[in-house]
Amino acid sequence: MNQESEQKCVFCDIVAKKAPAYIIDEDDLSMCILDIHPYTEGHCLVISKRHVPWWHGLTEEENTSLFKMAQKMANRMMKKFNPDFVFLYARGRRIPHTHLFLIPTFSGDVLDRFFSALENFQESPQMLAKLKEPANMEKASRLLQQP
Ligand SMILES: [Zn+2]
Repeated sequence: MNQESEQKCVFCDIVAKKAPAYIIDEDDLSMCILDIHPYTEGHCLVISKRHVPWWHGLTEEENTSLFKMAQKMANRMMKKFNPDFVFLYARGRRIPHTHLFLIPTFSGDVLDRFFSALENFQESPQMLAKLKEPANMEKASRLLQQP
């Protein structure tokens, strides 16, 4: 990463303590901060201290640090917020600097509903294909033909 691009990266600025953030914890290679647009109370981001766009581009040591930090924070979230579980995902489309989303998740919250909808979408082609099978078409036809 050249210097100009690094200056435009908000996570690099946070790591360098040039931008404000709610820093929760850090070690030599990773940092945990509160997400400023939380989905639920306590929603955090675990970021690498080095500017690397994708988590799979990190060194083994950096990944170990990142996931150790995520596990430590997830256990703390379970203790403090008592969610069903702590959701973890990595994207990076908006800010291409490695960050793990760590989100205390409750049944029916916005992420739970979103991912349930995605899972339904994943399952529905199979269900729809089954409806088209001749035996099922005949069954539906017979049912509807009866008054
Ligand atoms: Zn960066």
